[in-house]
Amino acid sequence: MSEKDHPQAHDHRHDHSQQAAKEKFLERLKEQGFKLTGKRQMIVDILLGEDRYISAKELLERMQEVFPRLSFDTVYRNLRLLQEEGIIEESTFGDGGSKYRITCGTHDHHHHHYICTVCGKTELVEGCPMDLLGITAPRGFQIESHRFEIFGQCEDCH
Ligand SMILES: [Zn+2]
Ligand SMILES: [Zn+2]
Ligand SMILES: [Zn+2]
Repeated sequence: MSEKDHPQAHDHRHDHSQQAAKEKFLERLKEQGFKLTGKRQMIVDILLGEDRYISAKELLERMQEVFPRLSFDTVYRNLRLLQEEGIIEESTFGDGGSKYRITCGTHDHHHHHYICTVCGKTELVEGCPMDLLGITAPRGFQIESHRFEIFGQCEDCH
């Protein structure tokens, strides 16, 4: 995966698309005992090189350049595993399709995204709505996580 494939066109003001942040991310995975080999490593490499959501179809096509006989099933199985480990995150787009990106929150502060439904690019939402809503969970309910996403079209796409 070379840098030339990924022009610096994104607006996401995080550092996870930079080389140092990538290395830190991979190092952290290793510390946590995740073994990323072959196809799973390639999924992570592709997603780390992009600052946006990518469909399984696009991932499959990119991976078939290296693994010509790769099937959708295999891609989905690996995506599911990576997702269970919190390495990638899935978002369902308006057309019902799922797209994937490297989890931002694990190596950055907690935050949310504006997501472009055309190109999958994300931008940072200022602040967390949970803090503003003053939500009180039902008695005995322990909140583990929450999701908040704003869908639309970015400057380049509309
Ligand atoms: Zn982010
Ligand atoms: Zn866009
Ligand atoms: Zn939040």
